[in-house]
Amino acid sequence: MLGIVKADGRKIPLGATDWMCFPNLFVCDCGMALKGQQNSWHRAGRAHQQAQRIKALMENDCITFVEMGVRLGITRERVRQIAANLGYPRGRKRRRVCTIHHHRERFTNSVTAELRELRVISERWNFTFEPIMRDSYGIYFLRRRIMLNGFLCQIGSLCQHPLDYTVIPRIESHDFDFFLGRSIDGWAVIPQKEMPLSGTICVMGRPK
Ligand SMILES: [Zn+2]
Ligand SMILES: [Zn+2]
Repeated sequence: MLGIVKADGRKIPLGATDWMCFPNLFVCDCGMALKGQQNSWHRAGRAHQQAQRIKALMENDCITFVEMGVRLGITRERVRQIAANLGYPRGRKRRRVCTIHHHRERFTNSVTAELRELRVISERWNFTFEPIMRDSYGIYFLRRRIMLNGFLCQIGSLCQHPLDYTVIPRIESHDFDFFLGRSIDGWAVIPQKEMPLSGTICVMGRPK
């Protein structure tokens, strides 16, 4: 067979590419898919070490490719290539995961007094507290709606009058499970089907 014999003893037929000589994809335990490359060479090389470090850094979705590049002393483009080879999502998609995570964090820590109170209450009662994300233009979380223990809750403030009655606020849509009304005395929990019309004046503790 006509061909070239390489220094390591590999015989390469004329006109054949490396890909044809090594048709099997090999995946190293660092996660990189190798083709036309011997494992021992790869393991000794920088790509293998870089892949392992990148894999560790990828666990944190807040680190950008640029920052990884700075830490590893390689370019952003090289990080992108290695990450793609390891099968990680592209940079923009990762940033999005990071952004959502930060918005959620900021939201649950520093939103309205109502939500902060509800979070404390749900912790005390061991309820799950899940902010609801609206994702049409940009990312934001609803301030007046929350999932508590799997129930969709509408949050509102009950306007309390000195003469012992309470006014039900106006609510835009009624597709919730519970209404949580905040008043000076605490929270009123009203199931959706028992929800009085908005503007209703009621005396708390007495059914309307
Ligand atoms: Zn490797
Ligand atoms: Zn982040």
